[in-house]
Amino acid sequence: MMSDVLADLLAEKDWLLADGAMGTSLFQRGLETGEAPDLWNIDQPEKVMDVHQSFVDAGADIILTNSFGANALRLKLHGDQDRVTEINRAAAELARRVADHAGRSVVVAGSMGPTGEIMEPVGPLSMADATQAFHEQAAALAEGGADVLWIETISSTEEYEAAVKGAAATGLPVVGTMTFDTNGRTMMGVTPEDAASFASSLSPGVHGYGCNCGVGPATLIDTVLGLRKTAADTDIIVAKGNCGIPEYVDGEIAYSGSPEIMATYAKLARRAGARIIGGCCGTTAIHLKAIKEALDGYDPEPAPTREEIEALLGPVDQPKPQPEGGEGRRRNRRRG
Ligand SMILES: [Zn+2]
Repeated sequence: MMSDVLADLLAEKDWLLADGAMGTSLFQRGLETGEAPDLWNIDQPEKVMDVHQSFVDAGADIILTNSFGANALRLKLHGDQDRVTEINRAAAELARRVADHAGRSVVVAGSMGPTGEIMEPVGPLSMADATQAFHEQAAALAEGGADVLWIETISSTEEYEAAVKGAAATGLPVVGTMTFDTNGRTMMGVTPEDAASFASSLSPGVHGYGCNCGVGPATLIDTVLGLRKTAADTDIIVAKGNCGIPEYVDGEIAYSGSPEIMATYAKLARRAGARIIGGCCGTTAIHLKAIKEALDGYDPEPAPTREEIEALLGPVDQPKPQPEGGEGRRRNRRRG
């Protein structure tokens, strides 16, 4: 029986701090638009470790590996589909090294993002092929020392199921989060209520589930409330919201959230019932530190109403951001 550091930490603490945005933090360290961030595990390992270290220094209990796009179907866009094992093993080893020197328990979560392809019956990707791609990635993350496999930014239940199956085949615990960015649902139409029911029904099951990314912190809190409607009281809910509302500035997605906004978001996430709280796109170590300070010693009030959320964080109903010219031109830039 392997030790389950995530379960141990959850038994010990009321809430755990997940990390911030790997993509944003790598751009700050010189990653260029169009470059595959996952290759930096090989080409710029010290910069990837520096991001992990910044999140551990800010207090993160859970750090996600730099492997969001490192499944064969995504890597094919760069001609690197044969490097899945090499890239994911390295991603897990780098995070492992930082976690092992933290002087406290830090969970290494192997990040697994979507394939970028649409699954059957709507699209061409079969359940078997998707499961195989996720398993290949998960096995390498496990080999590199991941404690948990962490599926992110999923929009369809079919892909969710394939990812969980592929990940669970390693024997490691699995966490899975979906992205609700389309009128309160995922891009493929899944509601938070249905997502919680679906996650709870999976076999092998997930150890936690929830939401990441999306269209802003107010919407994300509302999503947590939706998940809670059909979740069991003991279910571990994850909230990993973006740092403010995404907007296009000069053709690039930008996040305007301040540390204060992320502190407010974190308290509301606790009140809404999330046990694992972190940040997605735009969230740097400065924001994560603000989340940690807001939650340390915080005794949460009852779940917020929609009016309270909107008074503190702005409108819950946020449209997806649109670039000035050409819809969806930069969709591939979205990170976990
Ligand atoms: Zn994100």
